[in-house]
Parts: sequence; structure tokens; C-alpha cells
Amino acid sequence: MVSLTFYGGVNEIGGNKILLEDGGTRVFIDFGQPFNFGSGFFTGYLAARGINGLGDYFEFGLVPRLKGLYAAEQLTFTDVSYAKPKFDAVFLSHAHFDHVNHIQFLDPQIPVYLGVGTKLFIEVMEKTSGFCNYREHPYQMFRTGDKLKVGSILVEPIHVDHSIPAAYGFLIHTSEGTIVYTGDLRAHGPRKDMTGEFAEKACASEPVALICEGTRMVEKEKRKNYSEDQVKKLSGAVVSTTDRIVFVARYSRDMDRFRTFYNVAKKSGRQIVVSPKTAYLLSRLVEDRRLDLPDPSKDEHILVYYKRKRSGEFDERDYYIWEREFMDKMVVHESVRKNQRKLVMDLNLYQFAELVDINPDSGSHFIHSMSEPFSEEDIEDQVMHNWLDHFGMCFHQFHASGHMNRQQITDLIGYIKPKRIFPVHTENQHLFKKKFDTAQTTEREKEYKL
Ligand SMILES: [Zn+2]
Repeated sequence: MVSLTFYGGVNEIGGNKILLEDGGTRVFIDFGQPFNFGSGFFTGYLAARGINGLGDYFEFGLVPRLKGLYAAEQLTFTDVSYAKPKFDAVFLSHAHFDHVNHIQFLDPQIPVYLGVGTKLFIEVMEKTSGFCNYREHPYQMFRTGDKLKVGSILVEPIHVDHSIPAAYGFLIHTSEGTIVYTGDLRAHGPRKDMTGEFAEKACASEPVALICEGTRMVEKEKRKNYSEDQVKKLSGAVVSTTDRIVFVARYSRDMDRFRTFYNVAKKSGRQIVVSPKTAYLLSRLVEDRRLDLPDPSKDEHILVYYKRKRSGEFDERDYYIWEREFMDKMVVHESVRKNQRKLVMDLNLYQFAELVDINPDSGSHFIHSMSEPFSEEDIEDQVMHNWLDHFGMCFHQFHASGHMNRQQITDLIGYIKPKRIFPVHTENQHLFKKKFDTAQTTEREKEYKL
């Protein structure tokens, strides 16, 4: 008997936690944190207490109360007693927070299966973010096309294109047929061929069920979305026609977008300035040659920006050890100001205070290469525009989404032809239902038998 239980990712974008059981085999597909995690009960300084393990989260039903899943120290102050693992594995589709972040709570004895690149990402997050600790697990790394046997199931990860490298969908062969999981995916990115390959293999497996993401399954899309190629052309036009500095804000781990701006800078004879964090991430990702990314220590088009810290003298001792690696590529606010016309610089909202030191010439450019705000009252958006106005900067919104749009999802489902559909990672499962008779509404913590 095969069943699926959705402990997260239902009627919400992100936070996927899907339990698949086949006889005695029990595995989780993704174990992420919802974007609005705990926001109904915690705000500002009112935060869940780390010291209380999972206690504060259990109180409000924010994390499932399951025995044999969590690390002993997470349960010390809770009414769930520790038990040896009753779960065989967790499979991670990609390294986004909303798919991986709650593995921090898991019993370290539970094996975690993940892509080679995903492992690199989580190691970098642990090293550079200060608040990630995913613990020692028996980590099993995979590549596309591998076949991973766990109990009575066989899992085949197939690469897909998404806004982070090393993203996968899964074909899960069970005793009652194949269940396909899309993970997060798109068909308009630089590696749409990978999504195509996934779709073909998914179709050929004649799946009994499709667990399908629906981030952009919306009635009417209000926000502008471009392809990666369009982002490159539009940004290229801005950079090549100005003699001012161009700042760009992008998601820190979207390496396609990094590559886009790197190429735009290079083509117009500029250098790209990145943070030590991005330099460190690149220095690790070059280990995976398939990702085809430049080495920040060797590439002459990359410079690394060091903020003024404690001593004010850019002394080595002011920086973390992992940050020091790139000090021979160092630029500081003064050199950025002097060389404005020769630079494209990564700068997200949280680093805007650097603008006070850099003091860019009026008429400089800022390309916002991330999602547009969800509402017009978005406070961060207002703050961002206040800064841009203050420094007389021109604003541009160029972004390519990491997800398929409604038509593409509909086409994908039509092509794969699953017997049943379980929409996840969406707020609009009724739109799946509208189009496909077989669509199954999923409900949190309810078990669905195949
Ligand atoms: Zn994602």
C-alpha cells in the first residue's frame, strides 16, 4: 500500500514536507521551511526560543509532531518523547530554504539524499550565514539519472532548470507505480533542456501520480516576467549606454543571474564587484565543473568589495577567515567611487548603507533583478525607493522567475498525463482543478492512498 501525506507545502508557496509510505518504507520528499513560518505568532523580538528546541513550534502546530523523526535535543522540553528513527530517508530537490531548512531539526541518523551541488550550497550556507546548522547526517549525494534504492522504492533524480543550480525533480518508483515530483522548475531559463528531459522521462514512466508545483498558478499575472535572455539584453542596454556605475540586486544563490550580470559587465569592458560571501560561494561552486562558473580568485573581471569594519583600515583581522581568501581582489568604497564608470556592482537592499560611503554620482543605475513586491504597501520597497531617490539613481525592474507560468504548468501536466495530480507549493489549487478532472485537492496532514 502506497500513501502520501502532506505536512507542508499545501495551500502555501514553499515549506514542502511530503511523506511517502510504501509498505514499511517511509521517506520524506523535501523538508523545508514555509516563507511565512511562524509569522502568526512570532514577530520582531518575539521569537521562538532556540533553547526550547521544537517546543515553541509544536505549541502552535508549526512543525508536525512525529515520533522517530527529530533529534533528541530538539525534544528535551516537549511532550514528544525521543524514539529511534522511524523514517528511512529524506530526499532534497534543491537548496532553497523552503525545501531544506527544517532538516536542522532531524535526527542526525536519518540519511539525507541530495544533489552534489546542493551539498555544496548547504555547506556554504553553514559557513557564511551564521544561523544555519544542518548537522552531520549520512549524506548521500546524487547526480541526474542515478537510481537510489531505499527499502521498497527506487528514486530517480532528474535535473530541472530552476533559479538555483542543482535542482531536481524525482521519479519515485513504488510498488503501485511511479510517482513524479516536479520540485521547483521553469521552462524559460538557460537550461530549459533539462526541464524538457525531466518532462520526457516523467511522461515515459506513465505515472500514477504527479506532485506538481504551482507557484505561478494564478488567475492573472500582474508582475512583469522576462526570460533570462531578456534580462541579459535589457541589462546590457543599460550598462552599455551609461558612463555611471550600475548596481544590481539579485537573489544571492541565483547563479544564472550572476552569470548574466558577469557577462553583461565583461561585454561592456567593466568588472563586476561582488561581496566576499558571493566570492566564497563561487570559489566552492567551481569545484563542480558542470556549473561552468568563473573562479573569483583567478578571474580578472571579478573584484571583491570589503566593507569598512572595526579598525576602519581594512585590516585582515577585521574579517572572518573565509572572507580573507579574496583580499588580493579587494576594492573598498573609495576605489568604487573613483572607478564608477568601469564597474557593475552587486548590492542588495540590506547592503544599502554602503551607498553612504560610495556616494555614487547622480544618474547612476540600479537594476532590481528579483520579484516585484507582493503589495503596494511593501515597506522594504518604500525604503529601497527612498534610498534610490536620495542618491538620484535610475530604477529598473528586470527579472526572470524560477517557476513555470500557468500555461507552461498546464502544458506540462497535459504532456505527462498522470492519473492523479497533487498540487503543492501553490495558493491556488482550485486552478489545477478547473483544468484537470483528475486534480486532487490536497489537505494538510491527511493521508492519500494511491
Ligand atoms: Zn525553489
